[in-house]
Amino acid sequence: MHATARDNHGGMTPPNTPVLVVGAGVTGCVLALELAHHGVPSIVVERAARAPRHRELTLVSGRSMELLRRLGLTSALRRHGFDPDWPPEIVWARGIGQPPVLVSRSPSVNEVLRTYEKNTDGSDPIEAYLLLPSSDLTSRLRVAARDHPLIDLRQGWTFTDLRADADAVVAVLVDAASGERHMVQATYLAGCDGAHSTVRRCLAVTMEQLAPPVPHCTVYFRSDELAGPPPGPATIITAGLTLTWRHDEHVWIGQLPMSAGEATMADPTALLRGRLGSEPAEILGVAQSEEALRVATAYHRGPVYLAGEAAHHLAPPGGPVDTCIGDAVDLGWKLAAAVHGWGGPDLLASYEHERRQRALIDREMAARALETRRRFGRLAVAGASPEVLAGVLDQEAPQVDLAGAFPGARAPAVRMADGGELFDKLGPQFTLVDQTEAGEGEELVATAEAQGLPIKHLPVRDPLVRDRWAADLVLIRPDQHIAWHSGGSPAGWKHLLDAMTATVHRPDHVNT
Ligand SMILES: Cc1cc2nc3c(=O)[nH]c(=O)nc-3n(C[C@H](O)[C@H](O)[C@H](O)COP(=O)(O)OP(=O)(O)OC[C@H]3O[C@@H](n4cnc5c(N)ncnc54)[C@H](O)[C@@H]3O)c2cc1C
Repeated sequence: MHATARDNHGGMTPPNTPVLVVGAGVTGCVLALELAHHGVPSIVVERAARAPRHRELTLVSGRSMELLRRLGLTSALRRHGFDPDWPPEIVWARGIGQPPVLVSRSPSVNEVLRTYEKNTDGSDPIEAYLLLPSSDLTSRLRVAARDHPLIDLRQGWTFTDLRADADAVVAVLVDAASGERHMVQATYLAGCDGAHSTVRRCLAVTMEQLAPPVPHCTVYFRSDELAGPPPGPATIITAGLTLTWRHDEHVWIGQLPMSAGEATMADPTALLRGRLGSEPAEILGVAQSEEALRVATAYHRGPVYLAGEAAHHLAPPGGPVDTCIGDAVDLGWKLAAAVHGWGGPDLLASYEHERRQRALIDREMAARALETRRRFGRLAVAGASPEVLAGVLDQEAPQVDLAGAFPGARAPAVRMADGGELFDKLGPQFTLVDQTEAGEGEELVATAEAQGLPIKHLPVRDPLVRDRWAADLVLIRPDQHIAWHSGGSPAGWKHLLDAMTATVHRPDHVNT
């Protein structure tokens, strides 16, 4: 465990850690684990003494699971996942108890895997999505962080303030158990402290919002009136109400968008009764939140960075947890490169460009999905026919596919002739995949290593890789994105090494 100095004004030198992570939600835990994956220790402070207890299910995409697989996390997470044979359903109906207008059935995890088996173009992730309770996701990641020897997780510690200059940051932390104030000096600080981020407030970074936030009420309840709950997790969307059924806990979760007037009224039971058209048997809990679409105007100031919901607040239809995991991985390997001394200044600067751009794209997707729900609700109230309602749902936003065999894209994930995944053979840092007959990449790797740059040389002789990967030499980033490729002999070593150290960021890079 790293030592910390008490703020006793006794002239003690604050201790150092390369990275101080504030918040042990999904983002903070994945960031600390990514740093550890690259050999960088961190202190993680988490205000809550216990893991959260959210009954909602979270869907983690296949791409996020692919990133978490690099960290050895997927098997443990899948143990908490929902039945892999169950296909999640979204039922769109004019009202509760009315026949569905459309049932949108997603393939089960096992169906997805069977599709991936057949598709050999490398565009699919090597992992299927995972549906699991939010609380299990956070708890499992916290256990992984707590058990890692390079991570010093302090639960019950609250970040309150910071002082930063160009080279370091001193954070003020309060330990709730003892009531003591501590100061920790870090080379970098990552604010992963969620939507109401104190770190962001300390930096005076503002949020840019797409539209005024819509207040929401979440009610957890049991009902005898709601007939025939589905046997697995399902979502029912009607005018003014989204209902999710947690079959393992026999609990309904109702999301109710509210008008400004309703937001201030004190009786959520009456609100729920009005939208359900029946009396809930038992209210188990109520929470108020905002359906917001906000992205921070800056992702860093000096050595202090923002990631996850501290940097963007996106409503769940947009898959905000995936945006958070992507931030954590991207910031993690780039901070590690800076800590180890081989990452050039442009590399860390590229975090803001790549990930803010990603959040803006995800925000548009979330906005469109939310608008579809709202239009559906408005038209249902106005008495539109099932055909008109089904037509609205047909216009749902497509997924963005960002995979490809070109620099800036996530590399094709090829299953090799021996049955192994190429992605599993990549190193933790950069990897030079070498398909030349004479192993021409050796010279590049030797030069890079002489400069202290970590690159794995991976000679590959595989017909499937040859077929999908256009170039003989392909340089892969730690996040499986293509940094550079060459058609033949690796000319211009300096340019290539610069690409890893100073100018690896490409303006056309779309981070997945
Ligand atoms: C109930 C629920 C259901 C969801 N469902 C989905 C879904 O289906 N799909 C999806 O994609 N996303 C979903 N999300 C959103 C997704 O879970 C979040 O986007 C993601 O978990 C955010 O992670 P985070 O770590 O950035 O922030 P948070 O989870 O908010 O974590 C921030 C952490 O920082 C701590 N903290 C805050 N302030 C301080 C401080 N001053 N000092 C120390 N620690 C501090 C907090 O205690 C918290 O643990 C859901 C979220 C919730 C809450």
